[in-house]
Amino acid sequence: MRLNPTRLDKNEKPKQVGLKRALLSPSSNHGGLYAPLKLPKITDKKWQELSLLSYEKIALYVISLFKFDVDEKIFKSAIKRYKNFDKPNEPVQFKKLAKNLYINELFHGPTRAFKDMALQPFGEILSLLAKEQKQNYLIMCATSGDTGPATLKTFANSKNIKALCLYPANGTSEVQRLQMVCMQGENLKTIGINGNFDDAQRALKTLLSSQNFKSELSKSKFNLSAANSVNFGRILFQIIYHTYAYLRLLKLGLINKNETFDIIVPSGNFGNALGAYYAKKMGAKIGKIKIVSNANNILTELFTTGIYDLRGKKLVKTISPAMDILISSNVERLLFDKFGAVRTKELMDALCKDKFYKLTKDELSLLQDDFVADFCTDSECEKFIKEWADKKVAIDPHTATCLKMVDDKKINVITSTAHWVKFAPSMLKACKIDAKNEKDGLLKFAKNVNEVVPESILELFDAKILHPEVTNQEQIEAKILDWIKK
Ligand SMILES: *Cc1c(COP(=O)(O)O)cnc(C)c1O
Repeated sequence: MRLNPTRLDKNEKPKQVGLKRALLSPSSNHGGLYAPLKLPKITDKKWQELSLLSYEKIALYVISLFKFDVDEKIFKSAIKRYKNFDKPNEPVQFKKLAKNLYINELFHGPTRAFKDMALQPFGEILSLLAKEQKQNYLIMCATSGDTGPATLKTFANSKNIKALCLYPANGTSEVQRLQMVCMQGENLKTIGINGNFDDAQRALKTLLSSQNFKSELSKSKFNLSAANSVNFGRILFQIIYHTYAYLRLLKLGLINKNETFDIIVPSGNFGNALGAYYAKKMGAKIGKIKIVSNANNILTELFTTGIYDLRGKKLVKTISPAMDILISSNVERLLFDKFGAVRTKELMDALCKDKFYKLTKDELSLLQDDFVADFCTDSECEKFIKEWADKKVAIDPHTATCLKMVDDKKINVITSTAHWVKFAPSMLKACKIDAKNEKDGLLKFAKNVNEVVPESILELFDAKILHPEVTNQEQIEAKILDWIKK
């Protein structure tokens, strides 16, 4: 399969690319992305067979259907990265919470957020491709808190690769910040920027499309790529865990093959939810994909009114910082899938120029065939956290927003995106527990829900800070080039 650019002018011919190209150079023409034109289909009979297989085998099968131009050997090696997860043969843990309510836990990787699900294998693939092509790559990401640690971790000490992350200096949790500024690896760098996630993402997009930056990099023999979910290489792995949720329901006999279930996704940049949409298109019996936001509820507005409106909106800081996003990049791939590249370009151009776009009634109704959306305020979220902590179940502030959208007359699968240890102060506040400091709070909360805090988190509080730098946006380019030239 080849991937298509998401933006085209009328009568313009699409320049399709293979996955390799899209991985190494993720932006397409007119500032667009790459996306599949059609998804491969899995038959009912095949779903039944797959339900008996391990996560690794399911993943390799799903990937094989795409017939990408990357060797199976490389994918096999990539999937082996899941051996570093809490349970080596079960990277995703699917559990029952209550009647009709299940949780798909995606946070059992090395940095304790679902970003590891895609970035661990993605890092392996990029490193192998860079080696195969005897090229050096600078891989950049902008992070609202979880992509940063996961990107640094996956590339730590990879040959031919340097990895850099930009994070909003006051926009992440303390554990997330420590994970980034203390991450070890000769080839890594972290820079805090004065601004929010949208500023960090904008800075990244500017650099990715800057000819000057690229030519300076090439003088040092470095190519440029990005690890954000603008890279289709990440989306690929985010389809698999949603198919896994369906397969667990099948295997456990909780659903018959004519029944559907709803998936609830705490959303920001929309990569996770897009993975669910692609899984549905591949034949997983997903009914509605429920998009939850926090107070930054621009997606709620889009899916209920058809209007994407940035005018006069300001990012609000919430207790679910990974969802503090207004410019949700992967919505573009959904627009492309539903309305085609010409219309997508029209809409994205309008968003850039006028700061808003409006879908037609028919277009909105096409989105509503698959999606519903709502938002959960911090105080509602705190209530959910407390309610479940009282039952000795710790649910992080992102995952907890999902509880707003549960309909107990249907099977619901909540997509759990982070381990609560990354957000201890919010957990404590929700449960009205006092603590001397963050480490003390972590230990107290863990005791409260009969859990232990992973050693990799506790040791952060005594780790050496290797990347203290915080800078203004104007200085980012120069700082990165200085580092590359060293
Ligand atoms: C990244 C992230 C999200 C948002 O996911 P998107 O794919 O960007 O929509 C939600 N929760 C957590 C914990 C995250 O790290």
